[in-house]
Formats: sequence, C-alpha cells, structure tokens
Amino acid sequence: MTTKNSVMVFIQQDDGKVAEVSIELIGKARELAKQLNVQVTAVLVGNRVQKVAEELIPYGVNRLFTVEHKGLAHYTPVPYTKVVTQIIKKHAPQIVLYGATTTGRDIAPRIASALRVGLTADCTDLQIGDYTSRGQTFQNVLYQIRPAFGGNIIATIVSPERKPQMATVREGVMKMDQPDASFKGEIIQESVELSPEDFPSEIIERVQQEKSVNLKGAQVIVAGGIGVGSRENFELVHQLAHAIGGTVGASRAAVDAGLVSKDHQVGQTGTTVRPRLYIACGISGSVQHRAGMDESARIIAINTDPEAPIFQIANFGIVGDLKEVIPRFIKAFRAKA
Ligand SMILES: Cc1cc2nc3c(=O)[nH]c(=O)nc-3n(C[C@H](O)[C@H](O)[C@H](O)COP(=O)(O)OP(=O)(O)OC[C@H]3O[C@@H](n4cnc5c(N)ncnc54)[C@H](O)[C@@H]3O)c2cc1C
Repeated sequence: MTTKNSVMVFIQQDDGKVAEVSIELIGKARELAKQLNVQVTAVLVGNRVQKVAEELIPYGVNRLFTVEHKGLAHYTPVPYTKVVTQIIKKHAPQIVLYGATTTGRDIAPRIASALRVGLTADCTDLQIGDYTSRGQTFQNVLYQIRPAFGGNIIATIVSPERKPQMATVREGVMKMDQPDASFKGEIIQESVELSPEDFPSEIIERVQQEKSVNLKGAQVIVAGGIGVGSRENFELVHQLAHAIGGTVGASRAAVDAGLVSKDHQVGQTGTTVRPRLYIACGISGSVQHRAGMDESARIIAINTDPEAPIFQIANFGIVGDLKEVIPRFIKAFRAKA
C-alpha cells in the first residue's frame, strides 16, 4: 500500500521523550486510516531518534519518517517547519495531526501557511464523513470538531478543497492505545538539506520547569470551584484529596479568583482528564468545565444547589454545603481505611 494519502502524525519529542498526545494521536490516526483504507504515517524530527522511532512503531505506525540533525535536537520553529513541510510535500498525506501543545500550536500554523492549507486548532474529536457544498459532494473528508463561541456550540469544520487537512488536537481527549509488539512498521530515514540560514535562532540555555501537578495522569481528582469560597476553605479540598490519594483540580472561576493556581484547572482551557473518580465540590458544571471531565469513570458532585448542571452528569450527588460535607467525607473515609 502506498504512503500517499496516508493519515500522518507529527511526533513531538524532546530528549527522546515523546509527548503523550503524539501517542494518543497515533491511535486516532489508526481509526481514521482504517475507515479510509490508507496507511498511518508519522514524522519524527530530532537528533539520534532511532530508538524513539522503534518504540513508536508498536503503537501502529505503518511508516515512520525520521529526520535527524544535531541542530534539530530541540524544537525551534524555522528548521522544524522546513523539515516537516518537506516531508509532507514528499509523501502527500491527506490528513496531518498535531498535538495542541505549545510546540504543536507553534508549528502547525507555520506549516499550514507554507502549504497554503487550512488548519483547525484545538479539536476535541475527529471523524470522517461526506460534505456537500454548492451542489458538489466531497467524500471522506475530515470532520474537525471543536467547541466554539466560548464552548456554547460544538463546531464541525471541514477543509475539503485543499490537502492535507490539518488539525491540532487537545491533549488527553483521545484514548491512548496499548502498544502491540507484534505490529510491523517501517522506519525510513529521510534527509532534508539544511543550511546555517535555516537556524536563525540558537538555544543558549534550556531551563525546564517540571509540572507541579499531574492532572492528566491522575486516577482520582478532587476539584474545587468558586463555591468553595476562599483560599482557607480550599484547604478542605486539599485535605480530601490527600486523604483519598487524589490530585487537586479546579474550575476556571476558582483559578481566576486566586483560590488555586492555573495548573489545577480542568476544562476547555485547562486540562482534559478522565480519572476513575472525580469529586466536584462547589462546581456548577458549566459546559466548559464538563468538556474537560465528563469522561471520568465516576463523578461525585457536592453542591448546595439541587438544580446545578453538574448533577446531570454525576453518578452520585450530595446536595449540601461542602464545608460540612467534606469533613464528614474525610472522617468516614479515615474510619474505613
Ligand atoms: C472560552 C471559555 C473557556 C472556559 N474554560 C473553562 C475551563 O477550562 N474550565 C472551567 O472550569 N471553566 C471554564 N470557563 C468558565 C465557565 O464558563 C464557568 O464560568 C466556570 O466553569 C464556573 O466555575 P464554577 O463552577 O466554579 O463557578 P459557578 O458556576 O459560579 O458555580 C459555583 C457553584 O458552587 C455552588 N456552591 C456555592 N457555595 C457552595 C457551598 N458552600 N457548598 C457547595 N456548593 C456551593 C453553587 O451552587 C454553584 O453551583 C470558560 C469560559 C469561557 C468563556
């Protein structure tokens, strides 16, 4: 099968560590490629990335194109854009997917501009379907689905007339598949000519700040909203999280009010999570908040308002004041533990 018309994933890596979203996207690319009866390809740029390439094949990449150069060890926009654009031109995929990370959000529009194709940012779903416009039907186009107008509508965007169709996809919204060691794919080393002019910026020093909160990987999340009321009361959320081995999450309103830092924000403009248990305390359940947590396996909501929308998606609801409910929760848990 030819690689032309493939579904391609831009692999984001740094120091040999692949961004989880790239692996999530390989899974989605497989699903789309199956529907389209085409191959999954990927492009991996860096320095000495052979081992990383080998680790990626079992996730279901039919052909993985690597471009290695010591100047490409870390992401910088100009050479990366040139390299990935050339690989796309050479292999003519019909779809290219990028993670909606800082790097993905930087490189994808540059490539879209270089190729003069469309790009939909921050998609939360991707599907294949037909599209008819002015009497013309385009078959098997990519539906690029994302919240729009402040999350009040879900927009489906298509760019049927230009190829490749390109989208950035939010981290954590696509499920990560398990690797299959028996899967056979091919690693193809590509070379792209790079001159000193392709490196207009130089990395002099790199300072990495580790994420202090790992919401994405958390199995249990206790989240507080503006209903918590104050920083002092927010201690209760921390205490409950600590008691049950959970991570603290928050609504944007709680973050904006300074009750907790932005790294804790769950939702459309925060982190997308799918823990085994999500306890929402003093959170109303706006569409923007739900967009980031409604795939949690179990949801418990504590809210004084019995009409709060969060109860529509909660498996268990407690109508009550969190200042009374949370200490009772902790006490009950400790008594059982
Ligand atoms: C473009 C855009 C992006 C956004 N992105 C996000 C996002 O990523 N994440 C996000 O969360 N929001 C986001 N928002 C904001 C969102 O629209 C809501 O404003 C926000 O989620 C509300 O937060 P909240 O539930 O804490 O506050 P509220 O909606 O004010 O709800 C507070 C709740 O607390 C309850 N309550 C009050 N006191 C108590 C008490 N003592 N005990 C128990 N319950 C109590 C109330 O009954 C109420 O239901 C976004 C908005 C826009 C426009």
